Amino acid sequence: MKNLTKSDIQEMDKEYIVGTYNRFDLAIDHGKGARCVSVDGKEYIDFTSGIGVNCLGYCDEGWVDAVTNQIGKLQHCSNLFYSEPQVRTASMLVERTGMNKVFFSNSGAEANEAAIKTARKYGTQNKGENCNKIITLVNSFHGRTMATITATGQDKYHRYFTPFLDGFIYCPANDIETLESLISDQVCAVMLEMVQGEGGVLNLDGEFVQAVAKLCADNDVLFIADEVQTGIGRTGKLFAYEHFDVKPDIVSFAKGIGGGLPIGGAIFGEKTCNVLQPGDHGTTYGGNPVATAGAVYILERMDEEFLEAVRNKGDYLRNALLQCNKVKSVSGMGLMLGVEVEDKEASDVVNEALSRGLMALTAKDKIRLLPPLTITKEEIDEGVAILIEAIEA
Ligand SMILES: *Cc1c(COP(=O)(O)O)cnc(C)c1O
Repeated sequence: MKNLTKSDIQEMDKEYIVGTYNRFDLAIDHGKGARCVSVDGKEYIDFTSGIGVNCLGYCDEGWVDAVTNQIGKLQHCSNLFYSEPQVRTASMLVERTGMNKVFFSNSGAEANEAAIKTARKYGTQNKGENCNKIITLVNSFHGRTMATITATGQDKYHRYFTPFLDGFIYCPANDIETLESLISDQVCAVMLEMVQGEGGVLNLDGEFVQAVAKLCADNDVLFIADEVQTGIGRTGKLFAYEHFDVKPDIVSFAKGIGGGLPIGGAIFGEKTCNVLQPGDHGTTYGGNPVATAGAVYILERMDEEFLEAVRNKGDYLRNALLQCNKVKSVSGMGLMLGVEVEDKEASDVVNEALSRGLMALTAKDKIRLLPPLTITKEEIDEGVAILIEAIEA
């Protein structure tokens, strides 16, 4: 079969695929580490990791071995049977977090669905049937299913698909007084991202996170950390909540843990680990052996030395960007950064950078950078040089 050219692919995409994405003008053919090559043979440095998914970059050898060995052995068996990679992944997550049990899903939205269902069941069982409301933050992003778009605190997602779910309350980020006033005996949980990713790479104040955790603990309200983007090493800790010395009741994860394969899930603490019982929840693919064999490998790689390197590279990238006097600010943590520039739209800068060989993302008015966690300082230098050219162009 003859290879398709970029324009063949773009035409077929337009004809055959529902137009839910504004895609960049790039069709990727293959990649290795922090670099990939387009179907027309151009090389790119990748500061996107497939939106924080390819945490070890493209086609890391150890990860490829782990998943290909597994796929040749047992590719799927459903959750009606036991499999080794799934329990290994769960036990590693439990050991590393000091939490209790894991539920596996296939995506971030489904990870949050599991958290939301658990919170509602916990609330209604412990405080009565009206205890089902969940507080989320204005400008948050929790996914695209009906429950998770409702949880998402952005009006632009609350169109077309009415009726949305009842029972979500939105509180401005970093506003502990308002949050306190919204807590009632009808509230079963507070759910938040430690750094609002899609919302513009906005950091929560440490004091706010700590006050939320305390308020939740004092009122027997569950504290849910949506770590779908911030988790699995992205901010230089396995989970971003660890920066704040707090203990969530539920932690949802996805993106980075699969290294490129679809997997997500939620980790449950003492209060929540036995809430869901047989028949309450489930999914055919969740914790699939191939995805979890890859996850075991990724979690093994992510030891303290690896995480420290992520923190160092994050500081290095941030400082390099701040050398450009058109860069007004750099938000985020570790290798999840948001860049605010003067006199230019973030999307124009990102398109300009792409034409010069660097892939980057936007989030609201920011340039969003999510390079692979394994990127080298030399590759960071190369990418930053292109980004600064694009900012100054
Ligand atoms: C990406 C993301 C989600 C949704 O994940 P999907 O895998 O796209 O369903 C949920 N929460 C946060 C914080 C995210 O960044």
